[in-house]
Amino acid sequence: MNYSEESLKLHSLLKGKIGIRNQMDVRTSEHLSLVYSPGVAAPCIEIAKDPEKVWEYTLKSNTVAIVSDGSAVLGLGNIGAEASIPVMEGKAMLFRQFGHINAFPICLNTQDVDEIVETVRRIAPVFGGINLEDIAAPRSFEVEERLQDLGIPVFHDDQHGTAIVVLGALINAAKLVGKPLEELSVVINGAGAAGVAIARLLRCIDNENNTACIPVKEIILCDSKGIISRDRDNLNSSKQATLGYTNPNNKSGSIKDAIVGADVFIGVSVGNILTADDIRTMAKDPIIFALANPTPEIMPEEAYKGGAAVVGTGRSDLPNQVNNVLGFPGIFRGALDARAKVISPKMKLAAAYAIADCVHPPTRDMIIPPALNEVVAYKVAKAVKEAALAEMGLPDEMTGYNG
Ligand code: NAP
Ligand code: MG
Repeated sequence: MNYSEESLKLHSLLKGKIGIRNQMDVRTSEHLSLVYSPGVAAPCIEIAKDPEKVWEYTLKSNTVAIVSDGSAVLGLGNIGAEASIPVMEGKAMLFRQFGHINAFPICLNTQDVDEIVETVRRIAPVFGGINLEDIAAPRSFEVEERLQDLGIPVFHDDQHGTAIVVLGALINAAKLVGKPLEELSVVINGAGAAGVAIARLLRCIDNENNTACIPVKEIILCDSKGIISRDRDNLNSSKQATLGYTNPNNKSGSIKDAIVGADVFIGVSVGNILTADDIRTMAKDPIIFALANPTPEIMPEEAYKGGAAVVGTGRSDLPNQVNNVLGFPGIFRGALDARAKVISPKMKLAAAYAIADCVHPPTRDMIIPPALNEVVAYKVAKAVKEAALAEMGLPDEMTGYNG
């Protein structure tokens, strides 16, 4: 099938892939008096007296905003707010299908950090969570950080969603090759939104006091100019900060130097970076996650030729697709059900282990469940909700779920 051509036709036919539907029909004047005036005054008054009641009487408890500034959309780059809408609509469909969540595209007519932060603050009353999406790094780091006090989860999926799914896949890949996580030396190519978040999660940087988090032995992070080391003088502040937990021996050089002897390669950069010969320089039974979209850093066939033990990519036409859809619907479902105020490091870790736990036993062609497996979101939601409630010291009985 020619996906471009057919997709244009489909979009033109649907004129919007999502819509708003009513939870009940308004058929009688009694209905009208209940859902609208005069009956609707009662929940308004209750909420005015106690703002927390908004969770009980409105759509807030089950609604997420997908906020983008259109600056880093898919692999298409800075294409602007309007052009990003189809992606955000598609994401909203996945929230609905896998998480049973109302999600709405909010594509902003600004790429200014202060204005994005201000806008999200002002729309927050309607939403139980904010999924930041396709906002370019390093701006996305600041936007997310400044919104953590909002009282509802604000989660940049390109960072944490990716990192969570990668950790889920790595847990099973490590099991498959018989190497414990804590003995893995990992090279990450790409030091943008995804690369930095993966490095933090794999080194347990935000999970320091959590004994359930097992940091990998070491990480070397590379960007387009090579290994990120203390000797570099062209590092932005987010790359500089990674030196606190990566590259312990201050190695320098190119990606090809970095992977010599490494157990794991994780690519979140651009296509066609490595060859089979490069894979041969790695440790025995290397794990390769070549996640650049649409062209991986190395194709699985080539990686296996070089001796790879297991290969994952971002592509739906190949085995072991590392896709964020395995994460975000369940993560937000669990967070909403627990009425969490943030998506904490413990919740992220619980989500990664829940994803890994969906595959028994992992095999070379199945270290991670398929993207369309509906059970995954359920299991992730349960684990995330339990982690959130445990942190808040609440029993596991709250639920905001309303389909
Ligand atoms: P991003 O924030 O724009 O970061 C891209 C990073 O890649 C930058 O650090 C950039 O280096 C680096 N890079 C570019 N060319 C490179 C090269 N030749 N060698 C080494 N590094 C290079 O983008 P992102 O959101 O992190 O995403 C990065 C890639 O991962 C994209 O292809 C995306 O589709 C893919 N991805 C896949 C998944 C998945 O689930 N499959 C999830 C997330 C992302 P500089 O900093 O030096 O410019
Ligand atoms: Mg994205």
